[in-house]
Amino acid sequence: MARPRGKAFWLALARKGRLRRSILPTSAGITELDSAMMMRALELADIAANKGEAPIGAVVYSSPTAPDAGRILGEGYNEREVLRDPSAHAEFTAILAAAAQRGDWRLSDCTLAVTLEPCPMCAGLIVNSRIGRVIYGAADPKAGAVHTLYRMLSDPRLNHRPTVIPGVCAEECSARLTKFFRELREKHRKDAERA
Ligand SMILES: [Zn+2]
Repeated sequence: MARPRGKAFWLALARKGRLRRSILPTSAGITELDSAMMMRALELADIAANKGEAPIGAVVYSSPTAPDAGRILGEGYNEREVLRDPSAHAEFTAILAAAAQRGDWRLSDCTLAVTLEPCPMCAGLIVNSRIGRVIYGAADPKAGAVHTLYRMLSDPRLNHRPTVIPGVCAEECSARLTKFFRELREKHRKDAERA
C-alpha cells in the first residue's frame, strides 16, 4: 500500500499540472483536479480498509469550473460496520459534510469523486443535493444505481441529472475491493477450520 499523501499533496500536484500521465484516467471530461481528488478518495478507501471496512472512499469538492475550484468540502469512507449505521457509506458521509460546510443543501457547483459506483440510497442523495458532477471508479454489479442495475442519475423522471463520468481510476478502485474481499474470505475460511 502506498504511503498516504493527504489531500494537500494531491491538490498541490493538480494545481502545478504535474500528475503523471500513468495515473491519469482515459475518461473524457476528466481534469487533473478530478484525478487528484480520486487519488484522495483512494486514500480514504485505504483508511476504511485499515479499520476492517470494505475500502470505499469519497470526496466532495468545488467543481473545476467553480470560482473556488478544488476546495474540499466533505470527505468520507465506508464505516458501516464500525458505526453499525446502514447509511454510513463513503459518499453519503461526504455529501452531508459538504452541505454542512456550505451551509446549503444545494451542491450544484460541486463534484463528487467516489471509488465505487453509488448505490440507490446514495444516488438518491446525489439527486436531492443537486450535485453537479459525479465521477466514480469501479462499477458495482451488486448495488450500482448509476449504470449497472439502475440509471437513477440519468432518469428523466427525476428532477436532477448530474454529469456522470464512470471508470475513473477503475483498476485501482476495484483492486482494493478485490483484495479486501479475498482476505476476508481467507479469514473466514481459517476461522471455520479452527472452529
Ligand atoms: Zn451508497
